[in-house]
Amino acid sequence: MVEHDRSNFEVVMKKLIALFTKIFPRQTLIRFSALFSFLIRPFYIGKKVECPVCGKHFRKFLPYGYGKAMDNRLCPKCLSLERHRLLWLYLKEKTGFFTDNLKVLHFAPEQPFLKRFRALKNLDYTTADIDSPIADLKIDVTNIDLPDNQYDVVICNHVLEHVDDVNKAFSEIKRILKPGGWAILLVPINPNVDTWEDPSITDPEERKRCFGQYDHVRQFGRDYVQVLEKAGFTVDADRLYYELTDEQRKRMRLARPGEELIYRVIKSL
Ligand SMILES: [Zn+2]
Repeated sequence: MVEHDRSNFEVVMKKLIALFTKIFPRQTLIRFSALFSFLIRPFYIGKKVECPVCGKHFRKFLPYGYGKAMDNRLCPKCLSLERHRLLWLYLKEKTGFFTDNLKVLHFAPEQPFLKRFRALKNLDYTTADIDSPIADLKIDVTNIDLPDNQYDVVICNHVLEHVDDVNKAFSEIKRILKPGGWAILLVPINPNVDTWEDPSITDPEERKRCFGQYDHVRQFGRDYVQVLEKAGFTVDADRLYYELTDEQRKRMRLARPGEELIYRVIKSL
């Protein structure tokens, strides 16, 4: 493709993707994601970027979201975003997730991970969601209908900013973890503020302005480690992102601002 065709193509693609994500519910998008990525991939052939989740190379990643800062984000093959790629590397480099025999409960499982985690023979892997039809269990994270001390690992990313009673969610996650078990609890973080919420803010527009999205009920901030410690966890805010080279960070596009740390919490023995 010549350069101007390519940029025209990208403008059209960006509009189409924005339109799709606006019109269709997320579950519909997920259902058709395999077809979508199959159709789009021929236009992204190249070696410049690499996705550690699916292991493929591309000319660049797809745009996602709005505006210029939203360029070069979404993997055309597995639909990973920056935070998925960093978490994948973290699990691989710094935990036994891909090798140890672990009983795992994964809340609101991210599309790029779902079938890859399910295929790991070392895991006893269960997914949970409050309303997704593709999850194994229908569970509210603030009221988990499962016995105590069951899981080696809980993964619950980009959920806690949606739940009304976050302390209930923390205590339920802690309750179902085995002593010594750990959880990955990633949330959107605004590094310029302390964590805050206001239950009287219910208008979607107002929530978007205050908390970053129409269905978020709080904004987590620079004190997230203390928030987790207050919930009774030992906290490991991992700095893998900073341990990688500039070249690796650029090639794999690993974090947006506020996403550089991996928050792993551990239930004491
Ligand atoms: Zn990928």
